[in-house]
Amino acid sequence: MSKPVVVRFAPSPTGPLHIGGVRTCLYNYLFARQHGGKLLFRIEDTDSQRFVPGAEQYILDSFKWLGITFDEGVSFGGEHGPYRQSERREIYKKYVQVLLDNGKAYYAFDTKAELDAAREATPNFQYDALTRGRMRNSISLGMDEAKRLIANGEPYVVRFLIEPGEDVVVNDLIRGEVKINSSILDDKVLYKSADELPTYHLANIVDDHLMEVSHVIRGEEWLPSSPLHVLLYRAFGWEAPQFAHLPLLLAPEGNGKLSKRDGDKYGFPVFPLQWNVPGTDTTYSGYRESGYLPEAVVNFLALLGWNPGNDQDIMTMDEMIKLFDLSKCSKNGAHFDIKRLLWFNHHYLQQCDEKVLCDALKAQVVANGADPKSDEYVRTVVGLMKERINLPQELWQQCNFFFAAPTAYEEKSLKKWWKPEAPQYVAELCDFLETQANWNGETLEPKVMDWIAGKGYKTGAVMNAFRVALVGEARGPQIFAITDQLGKEESLRRARKAIEVLK
Ligand code: GLU
Repeated sequence: MSKPVVVRFAPSPTGPLHIGGVRTCLYNYLFARQHGGKLLFRIEDTDSQRFVPGAEQYILDSFKWLGITFDEGVSFGGEHGPYRQSERREIYKKYVQVLLDNGKAYYAFDTKAELDAAREATPNFQYDALTRGRMRNSISLGMDEAKRLIANGEPYVVRFLIEPGEDVVVNDLIRGEVKINSSILDDKVLYKSADELPTYHLANIVDDHLMEVSHVIRGEEWLPSSPLHVLLYRAFGWEAPQFAHLPLLLAPEGNGKLSKRDGDKYGFPVFPLQWNVPGTDTTYSGYRESGYLPEAVVNFLALLGWNPGNDQDIMTMDEMIKLFDLSKCSKNGAHFDIKRLLWFNHHYLQQCDEKVLCDALKAQVVANGADPKSDEYVRTVVGLMKERINLPQELWQQCNFFFAAPTAYEEKSLKKWWKPEAPQYVAELCDFLETQANWNGETLEPKVMDWIAGKGYKTGAVMNAFRVALVGEARGPQIFAITDQLGKEESLRRARKAIEVLK
């Protein structure tokens, strides 16, 4: 019988979570939910030098925002805790001892200076079967001497003893069989007495084993570690989990990994939430604060490295859970395409709770020193404008004329539509409109059209001149939606003012 599905997301709290890490977690989530399995949240904080305060909370907040839920782990509890590696020291010590007792690992006492000298003396030096005999360790010195040094308080590390000349096979669900020879591996440090902590490799596989992880789904950057992990599982006599190494997230152009620099260069965030770098004034922008909806980010990321094999772009979380398939993940890196994310955001903005956009627009109106008038007024403008935007931030720029009369008229629009006859058209139209008791756009439109026809004018020439007068340029939604919203008095005031100003 196959093991129940248990996957984990195991970040190191070294700063804000990169969007690539978000995708890794999303794929773990989809996989777990599809199989009715569990998703664990583990914090890999054994490298105390790189610990950043606030990072753990940031990661939790990010997934909360994105709607990705965990079943066990830091802040969620569960039967395999504690889930922070820094709180599991005693567990790792025990397993380091198991390897030492079985002769699969050994003590090493080489100082930094000694290691530097060895690297200096031998190009491409690696600590392995060929070199360990001339270094200072419990194999070259003997166990009695090693025990004596330890009793004297000499700092040491524990290294994994790698047997050379062995083929190591990693069966990867995305990449197939990855084979390497153990001779290229070095005797990795598993534990350091200095901080009484294991290194990533030991802690990672001990925890995956104890937490009953069935599938390790992680970024391609961890692929080189996996043969070592396979050997570690073997040394303990444990069954290794299934591996799946996800393709890299690439910069919009070229073959480089997507970095914060690319985001800065092209003007998009690479983090889910805004991040304030602790102890500085520096902030990194986040998708949430930049106006992206969590559904858009999730849908976009899901398709960055995987596709369901049909042409479907828009998917709910439930659909993704149903369709997700590791074997359909690409081996090749996926280019980050911000235009595509904007396209998804546009789609989800049309469906989102209008209050989100109303609040955003109201804040923009106030920030620009204008009057939002009423909630009803703002809601109508949002209804007219939302199909034209990809981000809520674009609202003010697109629809400021609903809240403030134009103070200038755009050059290009004037050139095209404010022809010598324009003032006369607009003046006559104003006189006609003045007589209209019913200002409702739907009633008004056919009347205006009849009037234009009766005069023998061209509709485009009249209505575009009128639009430029009301808006300040030739843009915006349907003109009668604008007059409706501005009201009779304001519409006529703007039109007459344009005639004055543009004389
Ligand atoms: N702590 C590693 C990271 O920061 C985990 C790698 C893994 O998933 O094994 O991504």
